Amino acid sequence: MRNPASKEVPSNEGISFSSLRRQMVENHIAARGVRDELVLDAMRRVRRELFVPERLREFAYEDAPLPIAGEQTISQPYIVAFMVEALLLTGNERVLEIGAGSGYAAAILSEIAADVYTVEQLGPLAEKAAGLLAELGYDNVHVLHGDGTKGWPEHAPYDAIVVAAGGPQVPEALKQQLKIGGRLVIPVGADPRSQELVRVTRISADEYRSEDIADVRFVPLIGEGGWATARGSGRRKARGELHSIYSHEETLVRNLADAAESFSSIEAADLKPLMDRIGSARIVLLGEATHGTSEFYRMRERITRDLIIKKEFRFVAIEADWPDAARVDHYVRHFQYPPSEWTAFARFPTWMWRNTEVHDFVSWLRKHNGTVERNERIAFHGLDLYSLYDSIRSVLNYLDEVDPDSARVARERYGCLTPWQRDPATYGHAALTSSYPTCESHVVRALTDLLAKRQAYAEHDGERFLDAEQNARLITNAERYYRIMYYGSRASWNLRDSHMFATLKNLLAFHGPGSKAIVWAHNSHVGNAEATEMAARGEHNLGQLCRKAFGAQAYLVGFGTHSGTVAAASKWDGPMEIKTVRLALPKSYEQLCHATGLARFMLGLRGRDDLCGPAGLGKERLERAIGVIYRPETERASHYFQASLPRQFDEYIWFDNTRAVAPLETAMIKGLPDTYPFGV
Ligand code: SAH
Repeated sequence: MRNPASKEVPSNEGISFSSLRRQMVENHIAARGVRDELVLDAMRRVRRELFVPERLREFAYEDAPLPIAGEQTISQPYIVAFMVEALLLTGNERVLEIGAGSGYAAAILSEIAADVYTVEQLGPLAEKAAGLLAELGYDNVHVLHGDGTKGWPEHAPYDAIVVAAGGPQVPEALKQQLKIGGRLVIPVGADPRSQELVRVTRISADEYRSEDIADVRFVPLIGEGGWATARGSGRRKARGELHSIYSHEETLVRNLADAAESFSSIEAADLKPLMDRIGSARIVLLGEATHGTSEFYRMRERITRDLIIKKEFRFVAIEADWPDAARVDHYVRHFQYPPSEWTAFARFPTWMWRNTEVHDFVSWLRKHNGTVERNERIAFHGLDLYSLYDSIRSVLNYLDEVDPDSARVARERYGCLTPWQRDPATYGHAALTSSYPTCESHVVRALTDLLAKRQAYAEHDGERFLDAEQNARLITNAERYYRIMYYGSRASWNLRDSHMFATLKNLLAFHGPGSKAIVWAHNSHVGNAEATEMAARGEHNLGQLCRKAFGAQAYLVGFGTHSGTVAAASKWDGPMEIKTVRLALPKSYEQLCHATGLARFMLGLRGRDDLCGPAGLGKERLERAIGVIYRPETERASHYFQASLPRQFDEYIWFDNTRAVAPLETAMIKGLPDTYPFGV
């Protein structure tokens, strides 16, 4: 039976697994180029959640490999689809799989082929897969416990053979068991954990054609025709066979090292060449590869200071909520506002802005602003939208002061959101699943009421009106954000980055024609998303929107690191930990930069066709992104993505070894005059 019809179970969020599965197939598999309808249909049918350990079910449709028993993994759905498509099946074939693992790929094959024979070296896995496949009604699949490098000669020859583990070479027995015209898809490589995916087609009794079709990472193929142990063997011999690849890589590393501008310390770095490259750009976006690396903050400060002093940049806008950044703004611009009772940057992830590195920069900015005219002081703003309730409070405080009648109306409108104050995410859930009416029209009316009074209010104090306006805009976007969060990450990601971009544009308008902005945000917001895997998922970001609207006037700077320590949590809302950054993976940009042997460097990428062509840096590689959460144990799946660095950034700044930021105390200290924005 090909189409087991037992009942669908809902996932944790109450969304059915079948709709998550459909989304995964569209967003990760079809979107990334798998076209074969037979394969896509099979992927839409097989219930992957049943093949992963129960505790990991909620991640079944994240398009990532997941651990199964025996230190093995169930492959990433995309790679399963890619490999099955590469077998060029039309239906009715006899297929051999090596590495049954969970049985998931065998189930996919069984949806397409007439008969599937699958071999697994680990007894318990073989037994479990056989039981599950039978239970689900996949009765054209046959499972054998044994060494698959010898194939399964009793049922040979096969129209197609697929191997789900990487060996040092293509096992002879498998080639022999292929029909003439048959296809064998197998990861092969000198490194037991990183391979080329190869398709071997049998042309005649003793002729085979071989094509490299992708770079992949599989668990090792263990057995007579594979590695002797899980750690691999025969490394030296196999490395020789791949020599041409390594030497090409070596040339690239040499060219990279030649082009890089190495510097001895952040303080001593000569920024002149960078300033020349930035030229007359209006927006400089400074990224970071983690949310907790000291060097990234300190280097951004150095560059920012030069931009302010030498190029008359007007304000700094950071990836933080508007009201929190506003507190810093008041402090650095020496504004006299009544003290407020709340502490800025007190929510997770506190260390991201509440750290000594930011403290030092803020102190410098305040001092600098003390030496210039009031209207030349450098402003400090927040682009993010997680401060729904702080923003509501800010708007109401403002209206209470300038227009108490309007404050009463606004209080009523925002009251719609009050029940969800403790956890705004529950609002989205309620709005989606119950009959609770959405607050959209209320918050939109509150914003339009405010904008209608722009003239009257702004005349009084333009800065404070801007603050209220931005908060009111933030509230409308945050209200939507929490609702669409439940439709998937793409929509909410795009909304968030669109909000950042709209805020940035509004600030440029506010600070006057020709005013210039510096942005501090993660690489994933700053680098052009079109050059990364995000594009295939339909995600855009701030850097991309800036590039589109401002062209070369936007200068996008990425940062990277190889190893060291980083401040990050293990889960959302979890405590900050100092974690060790794993050494960068092979075939990543980080590995390439590390191979230069340079401790730190700046590298202009714009216009460097010599270095950045499709055979050079421009060829897509892995890139690492560590956010407020770092999960070293699933690093490849959780933190690496494919990108083309020179299309993503105009400049890349490298620190080979880095250390975690130093967080400030988060305790609130009562009774302190609220002069310092962090309340410490
Ligand atoms: N297709 C699987 C992926 C499993 S990972 C799935 O969809 O879940 C690869 C599997 O190959 C592991 O279970 C590993 O034990 C198995 N393997 C490694 N060497 C093998 C060999 N020589 N013969 C059979 N199986 C092997």
